[in-house]
Amino acid sequence: MQLDNASVAQLREWESQLTEQYQAILAKKLNLDLTRGKPSAEQLNLSDAMDGLLQGNYIAADGTDTRNYGGLDGLPEAKQLGANIMDVDAANVLVGGNSSLTLMFQVMLTAYQFGLKDSASAWKNEGDVKFLCPVPGYDRHYTVCEQLGIKMINVPMTSTGPDMDVVESFIKADSSIKGMWCVPKYSNPTGVVYSDETVERIAKLGQIASANFRVFWDNAYSVHDLSPNAPKLASILEATRRHGTEDSVVQFASTSKITHAGSGVAFVAASAANLAGFKKFLNSCTIGPDKVNQIRHTRFLPTKDALMAHMGKHAELLNPRFDAVLTALGKAFDGTDLGAWEKPVGGYFVSFDTRKGCAKETVRLAAEAGVKLTPAGATYPYGKDPEDRNIRIAPSVPTVPEVVGAMEVFVTCVKLASVKQQLA
Ligand code: PLP
Repeated sequence: MQLDNASVAQLREWESQLTEQYQAILAKKLNLDLTRGKPSAEQLNLSDAMDGLLQGNYIAADGTDTRNYGGLDGLPEAKQLGANIMDVDAANVLVGGNSSLTLMFQVMLTAYQFGLKDSASAWKNEGDVKFLCPVPGYDRHYTVCEQLGIKMINVPMTSTGPDMDVVESFIKADSSIKGMWCVPKYSNPTGVVYSDETVERIAKLGQIASANFRVFWDNAYSVHDLSPNAPKLASILEATRRHGTEDSVVQFASTSKITHAGSGVAFVAASAANLAGFKKFLNSCTIGPDKVNQIRHTRFLPTKDALMAHMGKHAELLNPRFDAVLTALGKAFDGTDLGAWEKPVGGYFVSFDTRKGCAKETVRLAAEAGVKLTPAGATYPYGKDPEDRNIRIAPSVPTVPEVVGAMEVFVTCVKLASVKQQLA
């Protein structure tokens, strides 16, 4: 199918064929869901051995009784688990509660309201505060900025990460830009892994940005490979050390999609100065995190090898689902002008770009046919996809036959929305 060169007669013929296919789908009264970027029950089962694992032994390696208060920045062995996940030094890690998103919000609040360095460094002192948002991206990042009144500026994603020419020129032109969101490995939703050059250029932003600029490096999918030959993400920590910009990057990760999504352990990795600033804030919120959960996690995943072997089991469950999505897209759209997508080798999503102006209609048609998709626009700040093109597909929860069924509906809806729009 090539819509750009098709005659009106040809388009009408396709429209009537597709409408017939769509009606047949409607008659099936499906109820399928490709919205949820969370682990399936089978994946959660992989970590059930954590239940009862402690058997009364609550004492950490350094003698800490994990049942008691204290330990604001986490147990040493939990820091090492975070270091294994994020590929950083344990000395740079702070261990939090169950959610990295909470830590991201708290670090952003600290930077905005109180200053990560001192009160003079608080962003609120400088009037307008703006953040760069590679798009499409993760909607919850945008919610954090919206809640704090931080204005968001779109930066296009490429197959090697954010368009760094655009990033650098925005930063040079506008001193109210105080940071940028990044999901550097298996980006949500495009699945892109940032290239070495992109990591290097991001590490140098601290040299050209205004004071107190911080990259929020959300490495949520750092070990979530679908293949043993996973692409390697360059170390942003090493790069910032080389460029003398260590304070300009704060990293985040969690075990949410490693163990039990709702009761994992989350981590921040940052320079000593950033950690000190954040701990000052944290000290006013809590006497300490859930260290019993931390020690359960470290006993379950004691080494990097144990962690990677565990992630291999997730990959076994996820791979057939991703294959089902990518096979359906390839069969329907290879060689056409109906859409574009990346082929991720990790993470939780496949991101599909329709022709301009077709995403909302595709999502609407699919919903009527019983297939729920993430609302079009959700992958953009303020819910506004300026070209109405991007749709996020999350295949982890449905069974493989359900993914196959949902993708049949998806491709039909993309085709029908595209043909109708070309005729309009
Ligand atoms: N960051 C990204 C990029 C995500 O996709 C998600 C969840 O989907 C999160 C963070 C949430 O992480 P947590 O469960 O640690 O709060």
